Amino acid sequence: HSGFVAIIGRPNVGKSTLLNRIVGQKVAIMSDKAQTTRNRIQGIYTTRDTQMVFIDTPGIHKPHSRLGDFMVKSALSTLGEVDAVLFMINADERRGAGDNFIIDRLKSVKKPIYLVINKIDQVHPDHLLEIMDQYKDALPWADVYPISALEGNNVDELLTTLKGKL
Ligand code: GDP
Ligand code: MG
Repeated sequence: HSGFVAIIGRPNVGKSTLLNRIVGQKVAIMSDKAQTTRNRIQGIYTTRDTQMVFIDTPGIHKPHSRLGDFMVKSALSTLGEVDAVLFMINADERRGAGDNFIIDRLKSVKKPIYLVINKIDQVHPDHLLEIMDQYKDALPWADVYPISALEGNNVDELLTTLKGKL
């Protein structure tokens, strides 16, 4: 199994934390410095039968400048080049304009998309249901994975599913 996986989501939802957990701390921290690099490789996960290259896609937000516009276009073309997309949200934040902007862009992406609801360790189960409800019309075909990148809950299951798609 091998392929490229894009991770998108608003700042601070936990993208780097998930990458740290999957591929090890050093890589993600180092590559975080290259904030504006297109197709920023954040880490490579390798086992005997699998190689997954994770790519951070910064800059998917409403553009307010020509640089912003360029960043959005770069990020969108990245989405066209990968084999699967992880769209990460924070279980502790309401769906907002930034999420809606990403969702609109994802609607035309014909790849497996996973809605990764992170930080479940810090919300009540009822609240998790409410968040799932807020997103149920957004990407109805996407698989939903509630995880804790920090504590590791459900991360192996997500990896196993991804592996199965590549
Ligand atoms: P990024 O901007 O999307 O890369 O987000 P980061 O990975 O830098 O995480 C932002 C903050 O959220 C950091 O303080 C993390 O420790 C915290 N965080 C990330 N994942 C989790 C999680 O699963 N649970 C909790 N409680 N905090 C998390
Ligand atoms: Mg980050």
